[in-house]
Amino acid sequence: MDLFEYQARDLFEKHGVPVLAGAVATTPQEAEVAARAIGGKVVVKAQVKVGGRGKAGGVKLAENPEDARDKAAAILGMDIKGHIVGKVMIAQAAPIESEYYLAILLDRSNRTFLVMASVAGGMDIEQVAHETPERLTKVAVNSNDGISQAAALKIIQDAQFPVDIAEQVASTLILIWNLFTSEDATLVEINPLVKTSYGRIIALDGKVTLDDNAGFRHPDHEALIDHSATNALEAEAKEKGLNYVKLDGQVGVIGNGAGLVMSTLDVVAYAGEKFGGVKPANFLDIGGGASAQVMADGLSIILGDKDVKSVFVNVFGGITSCDAVATGIVQALAILGDKATKPIVVRLDGNNVIEGRRILNEAAHPLVQQLDTMDGAAARAAELAAK
Ligand code: GDP
Ligand code: MN
Repeated sequence: MDLFEYQARDLFEKHGVPVLAGAVATTPQEAEVAARAIGGKVVVKAQVKVGGRGKAGGVKLAENPEDARDKAAAILGMDIKGHIVGKVMIAQAAPIESEYYLAILLDRSNRTFLVMASVAGGMDIEQVAHETPERLTKVAVNSNDGISQAAALKIIQDAQFPVDIAEQVASTLILIWNLFTSEDATLVEINPLVKTSYGRIIALDGKVTLDDNAGFRHPDHEALIDHSATNALEAEAKEKGLNYVKLDGQVGVIGNGAGLVMSTLDVVAYAGEKFGGVKPANFLDIGGGASAQVMADGLSIILGDKDVKSVFVNVFGGITSCDAVATGIVQALAILGDKATKPIVVRLDGNNVIEGRRILNEAAHPLVQQLDTMDGAAARAAELAAK
């Protein structure tokens, strides 16, 4: 889960990373009150989970509380790269002397953690990496060793940070490492990390991604979830314990096993090219050992997606044999009754496939058609979705 900036700021504060006073507001009036409480000049910042807010006009300096109210009124409701601003953060303004970049992330391709540091802060870090890679220092961190003060200082020196602030930045790096590990983050980024005119180092903008798979270790992370952004179908699926991700195509997909479902998405997208670019509408893995109820729940989620025009059920019988799955499909359709309205293409293979196919043939449900191969079934589902 990606956090909003104000949530990242709060986590920074919790872990001792230097930040300035900040408060979140959803109306211009709240922004004014927050600005008055903070006192002095403030910055009004759009809270959207996308970068480049500054350039898009979503970060504005305000002279006083009334000005903060007006700036908040201008920013709330703004569309920044397709994200509508529903909240602003009112932050104490900082007299900036220099802007730097500091981040720790999970580097999946190298199976390690990575520190990235640059004196070219405030800008788009992808651009720095692309145009002036020598200005971006990258150092892998072994999770067993962590980062010692000496190691942190070496990274910061290698990245050419000015001598007078190197110690402070190194300490900040250790603090975000502590945050990264103890909160189970996959990304902690500060951009910009600033040096103020009076020589202090402050995290002015933060981006944090928490690892949802470690959520069970962090009951307090539950409160950070942005329910307004959760897709209604995904929320319903989660409630039913289904592994579902909404995509933007037209062919609903159900399979057993994440690997099979992933390749089904590819095969559907490939087959769909011949039918005007039809694409998969979702990822849904019902796992091994799926009961009729799970099949019914899965079908009901997919049929509830108004973008879905056809459904492809792709099952490879293993521990749960094809006859059990076929019986599950028949029972699921009985449970759904009139709610089942879209053509369903089924491909069964694997353990006890003959009996599975026989069960579906015998049931002869008007919406169900069977195909023997994955490619053939994908093509039929795409064709039906294109109609
Ligand atoms: P982003 O564009 O979404 O990354 O938003 P940031 O929070 O990084 O803000 C963009 C830029 O606004 C920063 O790089 C700063 O130059 C400027 N900025 C943000 N906060 C302050 C502040 O308190 N004082 C001043 N003078 N500038 C700020
Ligand atoms: Mn930024």
